[in-house]
Amino acid sequence: NSALAATDPEILRWIREEHRRQRETLELIASENFTSAAVLEAMGSALTNKYAEGYPGRRYYGGCPFVDQVEELARRRACALFGAEHANVQPHSGAQANMAVYFATLEPGDTILGMNLAHGGHLTHGSPVNFSGQLYRVVAYGVDPETERIDYDEVARLAREHRPKLIVVGASAYPRVIDFARFRAIADEVGAKVMVDMAHIAGLVAGGAHPNPVPYAEFVTSTTHKTLRGPRGGFVLCREAEAKALDKAVFPGMQGGPLMHVIAAKAVCFHEAAQPAFREYARQVVANARALAETLAAEGLRLVSGGTDNHLMLVDLRSLGVTGREAEQVLERVGITVNKNAIPFDPQPPMVTSGIRLGTPALTTRGMREAEMREIGQLIAAALRHRDEPAELDRIADRVRELAAAFPHPSGATAAEAG
Ligand code: PLP
Repeated sequence: NSALAATDPEILRWIREEHRRQRETLELIASENFTSAAVLEAMGSALTNKYAEGYPGRRYYGGCPFVDQVEELARRRACALFGAEHANVQPHSGAQANMAVYFATLEPGDTILGMNLAHGGHLTHGSPVNFSGQLYRVVAYGVDPETERIDYDEVARLAREHRPKLIVVGASAYPRVIDFARFRAIADEVGAKVMVDMAHIAGLVAGGAHPNPVPYAEFVTSTTHKTLRGPRGGFVLCREAEAKALDKAVFPGMQGGPLMHVIAAKAVCFHEAAQPAFREYARQVVANARALAETLAAEGLRLVSGGTDNHLMLVDLRSLGVTGREAEQVLERVGITVNKNAIPFDPQPPMVTSGIRLGTPALTTRGMREAEMREIGQLIAAALRHRDEPAELDRIADRVRELAAAFPHPSGATAAEAG
């Protein structure tokens, strides 16, 4: 009983193919996850029909009593989950959550200090190809060449020299715990505000498996779709003193109508993340990452910074004589999905790279544990080593399919997908 089957079989076909791809492959992209069926249901609901510009109780449209309840619940749950004073759950994405904080705190031309994209930072932390690098004066910090961990002394030195108005903390490809107290102390010394972008680690923070940045930052931004396992979207937490400026920056500053169906799904996600089972999930994500990292190291691969404290790791492939781009392709051929990723001080250009980034949030949601991680680590190493041997790659692909079949897609299938 799929409505799409009657209306648009072309799109239905590709939705089914994508669902099949998700079922049959091993997802190791560190920023991806599988939502629950409840989150999917909220997203596919009648709330998508509703305009609700403004905020609960102060809308520019009639007919908002029920979506007001939804947004109020989402805000309250976000604050409770992370111990924050104020939440804005309207940003459509992580990039827009960051844009909202910049609009709330900066004028064009002001200085921000953010992590270098090439060392693990995000585009929106000041990359020249992004609005953040075009509107603001950007100073970038990175990792120490020896330890490959954030060089906090360098951060302090750059802060003293450039007096940024905002220090941006957080990363898309950093495998270690971030010392938020250290960033707070540096910011206080130079009179800067702190924004922590916890998009990657939000689920670990919610589940108690990574320190919480909220006590150390005026603003904490995030996505909901990575370790937090909700719908695609963003949100911002802030102190009460910043709440008015933040809300104005989101609407009317940056967006029009909020996506109320997505906000409902965010509320469901915050509820799920507050349950005891989610603490166990977050703990297992980290345990799985450690098991995978240890296996890859035992297979002779070098891990950036020597390992991982969180959900992801960066693998330096140079000892195998393979680039990140080639590795991504070889692994896709056997049904293991990863992304190529620059390693710090990478000699290769960004579309080639010397590394891959691996993360365990999605496979942990499918119920895999350390034993599966060890086997997958061996399969990854074998595929890369035997990348020119089709028979060997076929054998690995068969085993990948068996593993995937043993751990079902956790969202089940909607009417469209169950074809
Ligand atoms: N911040 C960080 C640290 C990220 O890793 C990402 C996504 O890759 C974002 C922000 C942007 O999120 P979105 O893709 O929803 O705009």
